Amino acid sequence: MRFHVITLFPGAFGSYLGESILKRAIEDKKISVAFYNPRDFAAGTRGRAVRVDKRPYGGGPGMVIEALPVIKAIEKALATIQKKSKKPKVKIIWLSPGGMQFDTGVAETVAKKYTDIIIVSGRYEGIDARVKKIFKCDIVSVGPFVLTGGELPAMLIIDCVSRQVAGVLGDPTSVEERRVASRDVYTRPEVFEYKGKKYRVPKVLLSGNHATINTWKRSQK
Ligand code: SAM
Repeated sequence: MRFHVITLFPGAFGSYLGESILKRAIEDKKISVAFYNPRDFAAGTRGRAVRVDKRPYGGGPGMVIEALPVIKAIEKALATIQKKSKKPKVKIIWLSPGGMQFDTGVAETVAKKYTDIIIVSGRYEGIDARVKKIFKCDIVSVGPFVLTGGELPAMLIIDCVSRQVAGVLGDPTSVEERRVASRDVYTRPEVFEYKGKKYRVPKVLLSGNHATINTWKRSQK
């Protein structure tokens, strides 16, 4: 699974992708994440922090990211995909708080059906809407709230889709969606003492009876 993120702030991703399971998945080449910065595609200014935002038509306080640098960044991602793979299956995700709600079901479908995901991450008031008319995009929200930018939503999608990719979670039964998992989990010791009070692991989890344990886990949801 290859992710291609269109973002003005690729530096925002390093710390998260550089830790734990996703770090290992990248090192093991189970997933890859590439960045395309629209600033790099603004005329004659490669690599420099140039402005790619302009005042919105119709007024309003925020700035809007211009269409052309984003289009060129998406084109670059598509060209890279074509170069790397003979028969790629590409999905373009356009992030917006007003989009279709992303969830585990969407992540499963995406991981199953596609080889390359382009995630278009906005900032400020968003990206000129004509871009999403030019490319066939799925408009996706990560929740009913407005964030300052699409970088966190992009990381959330990368994380959630990557869990579905074979070999990313060391033990395939770790994919919670495919087994009975409970909200509350416990580890050693069996009795934990804190400020004079004893906290015990629910007895059912010590029973060794997996049918009963699974019934209990389901009841915890
Ligand atoms: N008016 C814009 C809209 O409705 O798309 C909101 C702009 S928001 C301040 C800036 C960017 O953050 C968006 O373009 C989008 O990329 C991202 N964003 C913010 N909240 C999001 C959410 N809940 N889900 C997905 N993306 C979000």
